[in-house]
Amino acid sequence: MKAANLINADLHCHSVVSDGTLTPEAVAERAAKNGVELWALTDHDELGGIARARAAAKANGMKYLTGVEISVTFADKTVHIVGLGFDETNPELIAGLASVRGGRLERAHEMSDGLAKVGIKGAFDGALKYVGNPDLISRSHFARHLVSSGVCPDTNSVFRKYLTEGKPGFVPHRWAKLKDAVTWIVEAGGEAVIAHPGRYGFSSNEEYALFTDFKNFGGRGVEVVTGSHSEAEYVIYADMAKEFKLAASKGSDFHSPDESRIDLGTLPDLVGSLQPVWELLEDRIE
Ligand code: AMP
Ligand code: MN
Ligand code: MN
Ligand code: MN
Repeated sequence: MKAANLINADLHCHSVVSDGTLTPEAVAERAAKNGVELWALTDHDELGGIARARAAAKANGMKYLTGVEISVTFADKTVHIVGLGFDETNPELIAGLASVRGGRLERAHEMSDGLAKVGIKGAFDGALKYVGNPDLISRSHFARHLVSSGVCPDTNSVFRKYLTEGKPGFVPHRWAKLKDAVTWIVEAGGEAVIAHPGRYGFSSNEEYALFTDFKNFGGRGVEVVTGSHSEAEYVIYADMAKEFKLAASKGSDFHSPDESRIDLGTLPDLVGSLQPVWELLEDRIE
C-alpha cells in the first residue's frame, strides 16, 4: 500500500451548485480521468450537490468524502473554511449554511447598483444567466457576465477592476463567524480545514490569530497544497501546519476548464513529514 501522503486526493473543487461551470457528475468524471483517488466536492455554503457527487464518485471508482466551503468573516476579511467528512443531514449544519446563503441575493442587487454607477447596466440580470443555483449568486457569476459582455478580457481582470475591496462592484458582507462555521462542521462529525491561507493578505499577527482561534474552536486541518498557493507558499504553510500541529489538506479549487489555472488532480503530493487530513477521516471515507 502506498504512503497516505502519496494518494492523489483532491479535496477542494466546485460545481454549478455554487460557482463552478461543470455539473457534479462532470467534475467527478474529470477528476477520475486525471487520476484522483479520493475526492470531495466543496461547493460554497451549500450541500445541494452532495448526493450527486457521492453517486458520481462511486460511478467513477473514486473514494469520497462529503465537502463544503463555508464563507466566514474574520478580522474584517472573508476567510473560507472547508468542511470534510461530515454528516450532511445534520440539522444545525443545514440551518447554519442556509443563514450564510441568506444575504447573497440582496448583496448581488447592491453589486449591480454599484456597477451601474460606473456605467455597467443590467449586471444583475446578466450574472443571473450564469447562475446554476438561485440560492447561490456569487461574484464569479458577475465576472463571467462582464467577460462575455466584453467589459474585461478575463475573470481575473474583472475581479481586479470591479469586484474586490474598494472597487465599484464590491459590497462588504458579513458571513458566518469562524467559531460557528468550525462548530457546525465538527458537531456534524467532520473535520474543519482553513482554505488557501495564502490568499487572505493577513499580517502575521492576524494570521496567527486566525490559526490560534481556529484551533481553539476545534479545527484540525489547513490547506497546504492548493491551486491558490505558489510553490513558496506550499513551504510556508507546511511549516505553519507543523507549528500549529494541524493536518494538511490538498485541493485544486477547480471551478472551470476555461478559468482554473490548476486542473483537478494535478497538484504535487504533500511532503511526507505532514499528516494528511484524510488520515483523520479514515472512518468517514466512503
Ligand atoms: P463570493 O463568494 O460571491 O464572494 O465569490 C467568491 C469567489 O470568487 C471565490 O470562491 C472564487 O471562486 C472567485 N474569486 C475570488 N477572487 C478571484 C479572482 N481574483 N479571480 C478569479 N476568481 C476569483
Ligand atoms: Mn469560488
Ligand atoms: Mn475559497
Ligand atoms: Mn473554493
